Amino acid sequence: MEKWDVVIVGAGPGGSYAAKTAAEAGLRTVFFERGRKPGEKNSSGCGLGQRWWRDFPEVMEAVTRMPSYRKVEMVVINMVDEDLRLRFRCGTNGSDLCAGRFPNRKGMEGASVYRMDLDPYLAELAVKAGAELRTSTLVTDVIMENGQVKGVRTERGEPVYAEVVIAADGAMSTMARRSGMRNRWGGGCTNVLQLDYACDEEMMDDVIGDAEWCWFGGAVGYQVNFRSSFHISVGGGWLDRDLKGYRRHDDLKSLIDVPAFQAMCRAVKARPREFQAHLLPWLKRPVKSYTGGMMLVGDAAGFPCPLEAEGVWHACYSGKIAAETAAWAISRGDVSENALSEYEKRWKASFLGKEHEFGEEFVDIWEGAIMNREKALEQLQLMLEFTMLQPFSIVFDWADAHMDCFNHHLRHFLELAPQFSDFGRTYLAPLARGVWPSNVKRILLMLKPRIPVLRNLSDRNYFRVMARLFRQLAPFLDPTAEQDAPLPRGSLEKRGGERR
Ligand SMILES: Cc1cc2nc3c(=O)[nH]c(=O)nc-3n(C[C@H](O)[C@H](O)[C@H](O)COP(=O)(O)OP(=O)(O)OC[C@H]3O[C@@H](n4cnc5c(N)ncnc54)[C@H](O)[C@@H]3O)c2cc1C
Repeated sequence: MEKWDVVIVGAGPGGSYAAKTAAEAGLRTVFFERGRKPGEKNSSGCGLGQRWWRDFPEVMEAVTRMPSYRKVEMVVINMVDEDLRLRFRCGTNGSDLCAGRFPNRKGMEGASVYRMDLDPYLAELAVKAGAELRTSTLVTDVIMENGQVKGVRTERGEPVYAEVVIAADGAMSTMARRSGMRNRWGGGCTNVLQLDYACDEEMMDDVIGDAEWCWFGGAVGYQVNFRSSFHISVGGGWLDRDLKGYRRHDDLKSLIDVPAFQAMCRAVKARPREFQAHLLPWLKRPVKSYTGGMMLVGDAAGFPCPLEAEGVWHACYSGKIAAETAAWAISRGDVSENALSEYEKRWKASFLGKEHEFGEEFVDIWEGAIMNREKALEQLQLMLEFTMLQPFSIVFDWADAHMDCFNHHLRHFLELAPQFSDFGRTYLAPLARGVWPSNVKRILLMLKPRIPVLRNLSDRNYFRVMARLFRQLAPFLDPTAEQDAPLPRGSLEKRGGERR
């Protein structure tokens, strides 16, 4: 009977990083991959953000040497109106304030790389650490005894036993379903369509540079740029809705038809070469991530970022925590559900837990405002009008005298304002609890000298008066509130309730 300390299903980023961590901890580890080699079955490529330099610097160093690598120093945003006209383009290169907190890093410094480069590299790290990789092996079932996972079964019927199973088998997760941890996704999972293009490398350098591109129109598209290629993807709707096929292909097509996109394709000599459709969990909160003898990592647990669906970092990060928890539980001789609940405690207390603090609020914006075509167009119009009120647009709107142009735009913006206030009340107000109390205090202190009747009060008394006058501010001004952290969920609503 084959028995291991840890069996891992899937050699994507989550599985490989879990295998590396488990093997380094001295656990006898095997990991299974259904593809002929890791990376073969996954979305073509991915963008990796700055936090990789903080958490996996050795991987990022290696990524910069991979054949498909393109540096990401900027995100370019293209806004397109209903008539497919490009109306606004801007770029942002992040901020030293966030990336500057990581050693020797400034501004935006991410990477784009093909999964066919990244996944085999990560798997190789695990093999070098002592884990055994078995490719072309589909795992089809879990072995359960007395309600606890004891191992897995491959499609050839072979049983493979383990102290702990780590399910890193992606969005579809056979392991999560076969163990009864969850059913197929209902809501909370999207179907992402993607078109991959081969391009001319020199033209990519000249036209695209070191940047990712985003396209905002009736649909939102990500354009991830690699050394001599790019792919464009659109979220094609939630799995439990829009299944009639209308949105999924129409959204991708509407982006590809944008003349500015076509012009870019001509400039980089882009040739479409592969169409892909992949599932991507997009959850308000991850699913329960452990049961007796098994933990879920990465997409299997629904860990991708609830705002922009980055998920490779989340997979590696959760894989690492799961393997560390497995080592801890095995050393105590207890891999029961109760013992493995430690995994959920650990990831909730980590950067990964922080990522999901606002999951509900972020996903609501997608559900109600962006994934809904009519609403997305309304919001886009508002955003475009908003961009027209900034100084550059005032200078460069030379249709008429500049202040007249500004006033025309201001009037239009004010006409749209009721719509904006609906959007604000529904989708932005719930994010208010994320503003740190210390920042709310800073803003109020800036206002204090301008309020004659209050300016002579001590800061403490001033905050007291403000909390009385504006009850919604009270939770931020409560002396017991943590100053540089979001307020707990429900704290603002509770105040609103009291007021009523
Ligand atoms: C179109 C698209 C674009 C994306 N872009 C980005 C991006 O730019 N940046 C980013 O960070 N994230 C991105 N993501 C999200 C990211 O791809 C996932 O979050 C990430 O791959 C999750 O890693 P994982 O290891 O959990 O699962 P996966 O990457 O899905 O790996 C699972 C592995 O398990 C194998 N497997 C599955 N079932 C079995 C089985 N039963 N037996 C054996 N092997 C099995 C699969 O073949 C696969 O190799 C994107 C996702 C999509 C769909």
